Amino acid sequence: MQRYFAKVYERDVVLTKDDVFHLTKVMRAKVGEQIEIVADDKVYLCEVKSLKPLQIRTKREIKEDHELKSHVVLVMALLKGDHTDLVVQKATELGVDEIIFLQSERTIVKIKQSDRDYKLERFHRIAKEAAEQSKRSVIPNIYRIINLDGLKEIKAEVKLIAYEGMQGTADSFNNKIAKLKPGQRVAIVIGPEGGFSSGEIDAANYYGFKKVSLGKRILRAETAAIYALSVISNMLEQK
Ligand code: SAH
Repeated sequence: MQRYFAKVYERDVVLTKDDVFHLTKVMRAKVGEQIEIVADDKVYLCEVKSLKPLQIRTKREIKEDHELKSHVVLVMALLKGDHTDLVVQKATELGVDEIIFLQSERTIVKIKQSDRDYKLERFHRIAKEAAEQSKRSVIPNIYRIINLDGLKEIKAEVKLIAYEGMQGTADSFNNKIAKLKPGQRVAIVIGPEGGFSSGEIDAANYYGFKKVSLGKRILRAETAAIYALSVISNMLEQK
């Protein structure tokens, strides 16, 4: 069943322009069709009452619990090509609450101030579609681009930076995630294609981020993000 994030006034549903097009032209919805609408973190079973004009009404609230028990913040270096799009989509499917983009020493992709809003709006659209597809009731917040000093503003009970220079296994990473309590926040920082400098790791450490290994192999940045978030969501689902 199709899901859209939308607005609900009393029992009337108001979709975005894009979603009206998707529902009526792509999905070719019929009168009587049922869809799921997410509004203000609530999920409603709704029905298409008419198409011209489009009228969608809520029928009842759906109680569901698809969100992780702890809040996951991904701090991700901007990546080349469409790798950032991939990470935004997969991080959303894996339950992330917020994605903060990091412009670090070795980040190749620089977002100009003039492109910032357009780029963030585009990443929001990717996250919205992924949240609808994966049946989430929350679209991850994607609104910040920081440099390394911006790490000091990040509030979380568990703050980790994945450092490819660490030797050894992912045990320390697993142990720190295992200690997470429901309602707590975990922030995980993933570097760019060129990795982190030791100076950046020292600075992150100063801001309270513990360096962790993600295992014995050096993963591509997009793989590292997906791996780390898979471990976190898997462990949190077991709580
Ligand atoms: N170009 C670097 C690798 C960068 S990998 C080199 O070849 O050494 C990109 C990012 O993924 C890293 O900055 C780190 O955040 C993460 N990463 C990849 N493999 C990792 C590992 N085994 N342990 C910890 N972090 C890892």
